[in-house]
Order: sequence, then C-alpha cells, then structure tokens
Amino acid sequence: MKTKKYIVVIGGVLSGVGKGIATASIGKILNEYGYSLTGIKIDPYINYDAGTLRPTEHGEVWVTNDGGEIDQDLGSYERFLGIDIPKRNNITTGQVYKAIIDRERRGEYLGETVQFIPHVPNEIKDRIRAASEDYDVTIIEIGGTVGDYENIPFLFAVKGLERELGKENLIYVLITYMPVPSHIGEMKTKPTQQAIKLLQENGIIPDIILCRGKEALDDIRRKKIETYANIKREFVISAPDVKIVYEVPINFERENLGKKILTKLALEPKKEPNWEKWNVRLNNLRNPSTTARIGMVGKYLDIGEFSLRDAYVSINEALINAGAALGIKPKIEWIDSKEIEQQGVEILKNYDGIIIPGGFGATGIEGKIKTIKYVRENKIPFLGLCLGMQLAAVEYARNVCNLKEAHSREVLPDTPYPIITLLPSQQKAMEESQYGGTMRLGAYAAYIKPDTLVYKLYEKEGRIKQDMAKSFEPYRLGQLIDSQPATKYIVERHRHRYEFSPEFEKTLEDAGLVFSGHHHRLDGVKLAEFLELPEHPFFVATQAHPEFTSKFLTASPLFLGFLSATKKQ
Ligand code: GLN
Repeated sequence: MKTKKYIVVIGGVLSGVGKGIATASIGKILNEYGYSLTGIKIDPYINYDAGTLRPTEHGEVWVTNDGGEIDQDLGSYERFLGIDIPKRNNITTGQVYKAIIDRERRGEYLGETVQFIPHVPNEIKDRIRAASEDYDVTIIEIGGTVGDYENIPFLFAVKGLERELGKENLIYVLITYMPVPSHIGEMKTKPTQQAIKLLQENGIIPDIILCRGKEALDDIRRKKIETYANIKREFVISAPDVKIVYEVPINFERENLGKKILTKLALEPKKEPNWEKWNVRLNNLRNPSTTARIGMVGKYLDIGEFSLRDAYVSINEALINAGAALGIKPKIEWIDSKEIEQQGVEILKNYDGIIIPGGFGATGIEGKIKTIKYVRENKIPFLGLCLGMQLAAVEYARNVCNLKEAHSREVLPDTPYPIITLLPSQQKAMEESQYGGTMRLGAYAAYIKPDTLVYKLYEKEGRIKQDMAKSFEPYRLGQLIDSQPATKYIVERHRHRYEFSPEFEKTLEDAGLVFSGHHHRLDGVKLAEFLELPEHPFFVATQAHPEFTSKFLTASPLFLGFLSATKKQ
C-alpha cells in the first residue's frame, strides 16, 4: 500500500479569515500536480452535526450526498476540487465522544477505564484514517483557532498521527492574520508570533505559514516571521485579500506553494498543472460581458450583509460558478419578503431575475407568493429552490386554478387545499416527535420527462444518467422501473420535510404547469421534484437544492439556465 500523506491546516490569531478557502485551494493545487485528494473538516463543537445550528450565526448548513448536514467548508472543498465528499469527512467533538460512550455502554472496553488519552485521540485518528482511505493526500482543516480549549484533543491526535506516520508524511500549515491597525498604518506580526508559540505548546512546528491580510506581506515582515518561527522564508507565504475566491489557488501558485508542499511531503509532481480552464472562468468573472441583477427574496432578520452572504453561501457560489461559465457577473441583492408584503411588488422592478431560496417556518411567506405571481405574470426569469418550488405550486393553485385558500400545511395546517403537505408516514413520525426522521436529506434520483426544459438543461451539462449507480442506496434511487431499464434520471441533494401533494398534480397540470421530474418512491408514491412553465422565458423550480452540486468548473444546469435567461431580459 502507498503511504498516505496528510496536510493539517490550523488557524492562528482569529477565525473567519478564509481558512476553508485556503484549504480548498491547497487541495486544488495538489490535484493539479496529479494527486488524488480529499478534505476533512474538524469542527470542535459538541453538536453532533450542523443540522440544528442557526444559519445566521454559523452560516448555511451544507448537505452531502449521503445526507450529512455539515459545515459549509465542505462545500468549498467540493466546489474547488470538483468531487463529492461524504459526511464522514466532517468530524465533531460530539461524534467522537458519542462513539466512545456508545462503545463503553455496549461493554466493548471490557473493564478498561475509558480515558481522554488514549481513547479520544485514537477515535479521532481512526476517523481521519477512514476518511482518507481512497486518496493519496488528505487535507485536514481544524476549525477554530489554536489556543481554543476545544481544539486540544484534535491537535493532540494529529501530533500522534505524525509520530506514527513519520514527519515526511504529515505537514502543518498555519494560517494567520496580519492586522494593520488604522492608527499605526503598519502590518503587525505579533499576533502571528503568538500563534506560532501556542502551536509549539502542542508540540507542533508549522511547516508553512500562510499570512492572510489586507495587503501582501513585505520583505521585512517575512523576515521577522522567518526568524521568530525558525522556518525558511520561502515557506512564509503571502495571502492578501482577493475579490474572487477562485483566485486564491492561482495566487498561491505565484509563490510556488504546490511544489513547496510536495517537497515537504517528499513527493514529485505527477503532472504539470493545467490551469487553462480555471483561468478562462476567472477571466470571465473579471471581465464579464454583462451584469445580471438578481433579487433573492427571503426571510431576513435585521442582520448585516456579511451574515446574509454566509447564510446563502451555496446559492451565491452556484450563481458565481454559472456566471464564470457564461461571462455574466451576478449582482446579488437580498430582498426581505416582509418588505414586499408592506410595500408591494414595485420594488421588484428592474431585476433581471428573481430567486426564492429554501426556508422554514411561516414568516414572510405571503411576500414570497406575491413575488412569484409578479414574476410569473411579468415574465421575469424565476428560479425556485425547495421552499421556492413549494410556494410556486401554491401560487399557481391560488391564482391560476382558483383554489383561493391553497397553502402549505407547514404554514396553515388546516388549509382546505393542502398543496404542500406531510406524507402519511411523516405525519406519524412527527406525531411521535421524531423530527429528525422526517427530513428528506441527501441525494435522491429524479426521473425527468424528456421533452422539458429541465431535461434540456441537465442534458446539456452531461448530467443525465442512465446507469444505475451501484453505490447509491436503493431508497434514494427509488423505484427502478423494470420495463424501462434505460430510464433517465438526475441526482440532486435535498433538505426538506414537506412535499407537493400528488393529488393536486393533475389540476395544476391541466392549468398549464408542467411537472418535469419526479422521485419514484419504493412504495409507488411519485414526489414532484421539478416544475416549469412553458411560454415563460424561465420559470423553473425544484424541490431539491441544486446549489449543493455546483462546482467551479462544472456549474449547475438550473443556475446556468436561469442566468442565461436573465441576459435576454
Ligand atoms: N420548509 C420546507 C420543508 O421543510 C422547505 C425546506 C427548504 O426550503 N429547505 O419542506
């Protein structure tokens, strides 16, 4: 067996300086040198996963193919590396302790005292090894900042891994931040020096230091860090702010970061990097042929723009990924649906396209429904995601099929026309308070009608599948139709509880709405996954979250279709 190589990325000074993007960029660079690579994100919190975290505080919940609800950094890895990463690549303190305590309860420690050392670091190492099984190189990002109490077990575990594997098989990258206090006007290295010292208290000497900052690192500061950390200055890398995150790997390569890391890991390049496609897309974003003003109508509390960007990071990135392919710069603006309730739909004028993203609960729903009516009637490109599809169906039922009190049972449980509802099996689970079990999470197959726009868009991007993926659990693939072995399907990820009720499909379809794709459940129930409106420049909505499968080099078909349509406005 080949020796596995590991790169551990640790933050110093403060969090929120783009550690995830730096990690993803390092990964992408090594990929370009011919190495297969995966990423692990360690989140030191005690939550088992990110499923119940508040998106406005922690950023959006990322969903994996296998139904993991995870920190958004895994999303960056997927978009940069172009791979799908499973949920086991996210390790939390909660998971580690739960596994150990469950094992102890089952009597598997046979009278041993279960202790922090060795049991906790061993569990962490086992999880790291399992996730890295199929790859040459594994890049492990440890969440938080060195010096946090909750980081210690993970630092201890990677140090143990270093001892077991040998230093040439595991290296450390420290990502620090260089502040420029406004009254001094000079970049300060002191916090970085302290981070280095804190790391050394854990027995860890960084191999590479990435210096984040507003500006590039100058020679004086590089020298200071060289002397302080005792690492050669060529391994002190400047990482100034960028406008577009996908510039980061290119910037790193200007300092030859890839080859430096390979040397540290005693590896030779397997091929020369080819950044051509990447650069073409970057240039498309830098010099777009046009700008599209996109309104995202959601439920926003009074939070700053920064948090908003974080709460919808995957949708923003999916738009940017599509924009990079098309040469269109998406200019995203957040519109609070409550404002539409108060001020009317006039504020929607002058947008080139409108997105209604996913969401939970009853706030701002009527504003979103008004928005959909407006874009439908005024032929403004519209993309509805998850809740956005549910409300598009409700709007059509109310205003076209004349079912005036149509609603989603999530908002109005005793509506006479429950267009969106819980299926009987879910209803039962909800009554028994098993909320977790009622969510449809992860990747599901949808069978697509061949003569629809959705089909065309997926086909154009090569996303229509015919072969039945063996590794795909049958319940996610759904009913295989034996009489049509070549049934074409697509796969998208889900995170929702309510479904379009099949009993209303015919009514809506007779009135002109097209249901372009369904998931066929094993019990025969067909769940609507896509709807579209012919005779409209672009009116497409999906129960899925296509933003989770968008990658920088392979954008999402629905986002490509939507953004292209805005150009014709
Ligand atoms: N609240 C809706 C549901 O649970 C939609 C969820 C979503 O948009 N992610 O079905």
